[in-house]
Amino acid sequence: VASPCALVASIMPATLSAISNSARKGVLFKGGVHLENLSHIKAAAFDKTGTLTNGKPVVTDVIIAPHAEQDEVIRIVAAIENESTHSLAKALTAYGLEQTGQSVHQVDVQDMKTISGTGVTATVKGSLWKIGKPSLVGVDQAYEFQNGVASRLANEGKTVVFASCDDQIVGVFALKDTIRQEAKEAIKALKNRGIYTIMLTGDNEQTAKAIAREAGIDDYIAECLPNEKVSHIKKLQEKYGHVAMIGDGINDAPALATANVGIAMGEGTDVALETADMVLMKNDLTKIVESTALSQRMNRIVKQNIYFSLAVIVTLILSNFFQVIDLPLGVIGHEGSTILVILNGLRLLKS
Ligand code: ADP
Ligand code: MG
Repeated sequence: VASPCALVASIMPATLSAISNSARKGVLFKGGVHLENLSHIKAAAFDKTGTLTNGKPVVTDVIIAPHAEQDEVIRIVAAIENESTHSLAKALTAYGLEQTGQSVHQVDVQDMKTISGTGVTATVKGSLWKIGKPSLVGVDQAYEFQNGVASRLANEGKTVVFASCDDQIVGVFALKDTIRQEAKEAIKALKNRGIYTIMLTGDNEQTAKAIAREAGIDDYIAECLPNEKVSHIKKLQEKYGHVAMIGDGINDAPALATANVGIAMGEGTDVALETADMVLMKNDLTKIVESTALSQRMNRIVKQNIYFSLAVIVTLILSNFFQVIDLPLGVIGHEGSTILVILNGLRLLKS
């Protein structure tokens, strides 16, 4: 009767049931411990592009410098971005193909380099092209370009991408991404549970502010480089204890690994999926809230099981000492409690 079968069976069936329950709803956990941790979360950090937004930006405005040739700039930018996997890059390539046709594929791009969280550089016909944030092409030059047109576009919540050729800005592209339908709902539900929400983005201050306001998130941090995302997560951990990070990009992977629970969007990059502890297969952010509730339920059931099985074992041992229990009853008590504990765990299969 002292054998701890019920105690051992307290946790695993419950955990596996909960994992399989959430898998049916499109949420994959890479282990029971992550599901357990989820209920302890006090703060959630979201990436912007591809996480809070659909990650399918479209080019809305293009402003080309007077000295440059419009089609040529659009074509070269599209050709360079064709080699990048960033969502902005895909949008810029699609735009170039639409505007200038297949000639995009005839541009000879050399030495294409990605500067994570900043942009890309490449050499075309002997000229050095840089495409990305103001810091890449020169902040002063960027904000002065065409009487500060970039600030106006950013205030509209658009992401502004600069293109420079041999350190001369030749064009500005504004891209607009739409907020995911469920993002606002998910953030509201998390806030209702007392979880602090924050957006970490590599995008500029004005765009970040516009999107943060639209999503209803508590706070935001703009111009965040990939390694800075990690230090912000660490700061949040000091302040709040358990922190979740939700992201999709290569640049989010270090932060996903640092957070107590790293959550990747199913549409995200392979690295993000690989690093995360939990994957939202259908990109549905509201599932985070549901999973938190499931996590609490699981922890509760595991505790019930542990208390119950310990109580049964102690009772059986004591009754053995006092000679009030014989072998058949002892077996029934021991096996019965094991079965009850497993059945209790299986309740987590139902939602
Ligand atoms: P987020 O954190 O919002 O997902 P990133 O950190 O990936 O954004 O990128 C931050 C910024 O760097 C973008 O807003 C853009 O200005 C610039 N950028 C990054 N990659 C590219 C690229 N391939 N082409 C142009 N701009 C880029
Ligand atoms: Mg992203």
